[in-house]
Amino acid sequence: MRLLVSALILGVSACATVSEPEFTPSPGVAWVSGEGTSWASEAEEIFAAATEYVLAEAANRPENSWAVALDVDETVINNVEYQMRREMLGLSYTSESWYEWTQEETATIVPGVADFLDAVNTAGGLVAFVTNRSDAEQLATENNLANLGLYRGEDFQVLLTRARPGGVSEKDARYELVPGMLAVQGYPDVEIIAYLGDNVGDKPAEAGDWEFFCIDQGAMYGDPCAAIPGPGQ
Ligand SMILES: [Mg+2]
Repeated sequence: MRLLVSALILGVSACATVSEPEFTPSPGVAWVSGEGTSWASEAEEIFAAATEYVLAEAANRPENSWAVALDVDETVINNVEYQMRREMLGLSYTSESWYEWTQEETATIVPGVADFLDAVNTAGGLVAFVTNRSDAEQLATENNLANLGLYRGEDFQVLLTRARPGGVSEKDARYELVPGMLAVQGYPDVEIIAYLGDNVGDKPAEAGDWEFFCIDQGAMYGDPCAAIPGPGQ
């Protein structure tokens, strides 16, 4: 009897080992986190196009008279590690788990953004980050950016988070604040000439005299601006 029980236990554990499902990330997470995928090169191409546009504009604009506005998550920094961890647990986004992730300050940089910001600053432009990260996450966000070599005053002048609980996700009201915030820092009459983001809401609701550049985040979050999220443009 004891032998039989042992054999059964062995049999069960052997089955458990064999049948344990292997974790398969969602297509977007696999694409963004994978080595040698087109995610990095597509992001670099978008930033190169944005660089070309702002340099052409800068040729006809005085220094410190123009700015670019960028979203943060999946535009400047990459949070695929957070998404991977949630999927491994069979869970989706929660504001609590997201807060904990932001406090680690370990999001990585999106390929191409550092060179783009260098080009903007060198060409006489200013940089505003407008994000739907919570105001409670602002300090960690700025630390995370600094960990990646992106410093306030050198690489960007404004970082606007979203106040909770009353702040809305739509960014228009905060975009409208950017020129005023730059004016009190000594940069009057600044015009935003480009918006960069990974969601459709990362630009003003109304069309204007500016260009929008979309970073493809593989449909991991929100309402992606990429027409066909994932590999291929
Ligand atoms: Mg984003």
